[in-house]
Amino acid sequence: MSTLVGTTAAELARLLAAREVSSVEVTRAHLDRIAEVDGEIHAHLRTAAAEALAAAERVDAARSRGEGLPLLAGVPISVKDNVVTRGLETTAGSRILEGWIPPYDATVVTRLRAAGMPILGKTNLDEFAMGSSTEHSAFGPTRNPWDTGRIPGGSGGGSAAAVASLQAPLAIGSDTGGSIRQPGAVTGTVGVKPTYGGVSRYGLIALASSLDQIGPVARTVEDAALLHEVLAGHDPLDSTSLDAPVPSFSAAVRDADVAGMRIGVVRELGGEGYQEGVRASFETALGLLADAGAEIVEVSCPSFDYALAAYYLILPAEASSNLARFDGMRFGLRIEPSDGPVTAERVMAATRGAGFGDEVKRRIILGTHALSAGYFDAYYGSAQKVRTLIQRDFAAAFERADVLVSPTAPTTAFRFGEKLDDPLAMYLNDIATIPANLAGTPGMSLPSGVSEDGLPVGFQVLAPAHEDERMYRVSGVLERLLEERWGGRLLDVHGVNGGAR
Ligand code: GLN
Repeated sequence: MSTLVGTTAAELARLLAAREVSSVEVTRAHLDRIAEVDGEIHAHLRTAAAEALAAAERVDAARSRGEGLPLLAGVPISVKDNVVTRGLETTAGSRILEGWIPPYDATVVTRLRAAGMPILGKTNLDEFAMGSSTEHSAFGPTRNPWDTGRIPGGSGGGSAAAVASLQAPLAIGSDTGGSIRQPGAVTGTVGVKPTYGGVSRYGLIALASSLDQIGPVARTVEDAALLHEVLAGHDPLDSTSLDAPVPSFSAAVRDADVAGMRIGVVRELGGEGYQEGVRASFETALGLLADAGAEIVEVSCPSFDYALAAYYLILPAEASSNLARFDGMRFGLRIEPSDGPVTAERVMAATRGAGFGDEVKRRIILGTHALSAGYFDAYYGSAQKVRTLIQRDFAAAFERADVLVSPTAPTTAFRFGEKLDDPLAMYLNDIATIPANLAGTPGMSLPSGVSEDGLPVGFQVLAPAHEDERMYRVSGVLERLLEERWGGRLLDVHGVNGGAR
């Protein structure tokens, strides 16, 4: 295995700028790594080797001409397969989009290309990003590099596992209820959900538009910050995109200092239902922040107890409307009924029946029911009220604390099949991540250590809307203190590598 694999994006950027390595070498090393380990991990649904190497050659040529290049130019990346890529098949993990070649790039992809970052391939996910394990992918699950008998989290298990098993230094994820942060937690990687509107959603195949957010997946807090800087910024193609200058998240990581900061422990996100080793790891990390001069306060957000219920009304409601575009006419799969007349309605029914998996069908049915006349106020209306209460809880908590913290997920990675037949048990994985999506506030997960079962635990940092910088600051300090304690990065110390190092 090349030493370029496993090197952070920040260090690769330095080596590239100093012309100690070329982007072609770095890109080839990662493509080789994918070939070596992804048969077992299945983080990628497909790679784009020729296009990635061509992009790398262009960056190398520009550099040798002495052109000024963006910081991450030449650093390769993988992209979750619900983010559209021009000319490269994009399926969102669903049979209904199998074979669909997008005619355009998502804004984040346009930005990656403009930044000179070769795209290695597209990563696996639960179908339409519905799930917490990637077991709902129509193309088979991704395996957790820590233990290939276990799930890598979801829906973005592919992006997290790709980064954890050193197939890519960076990846793009999407987080509607935790799909960047929860996979980060269970694979020992870093995942960030930016403030709603902070990163353009144009070209993200919508799950629930008022909750969806694209964000970075990385092995270090600094790498996540550097990628966030590439992705963020106003986009006229997304009407919810924020029009505000992008702060230097990486500078916040570098000057990280928590002395005098108030860190709020959310009472409702911990305790009962959280695995013992998850709690212990969380407490240890909290102790380190206190030793570094932070003031730890307890805060209560009572409405968070209703977040999961509200989410599973709002999400299916929006999803049922967003998924109506998959009708057998416009994209991907089209199935005509085998007998009887070929009417539009019958083609739609046949296509959706064959093209959507069980979880997607379940949510479409839930969503249409919640929106139907006579039930709308009772379900959707009540859920929207809960959403407002959650926003108020956040606002009150942020009066008392600069950031809020909790474990990212209640348990470590579970075994395949363990929760597949029990949708409610699957939904509970996101109990700690969902409130931030409902409120539009930013959140990130970074590894805080391993549990009693030897599996990684995630530590979640939440900040007020538009204060993403603050969570980078706190996470930067925590990462440094933890690495001093472990004598290196968690993935390296535990030799996690998808079976190869
Ligand atoms: N696991 C959650 C769900 O199934 C979150 C999904 C997501 O963030 N895309 O809805």
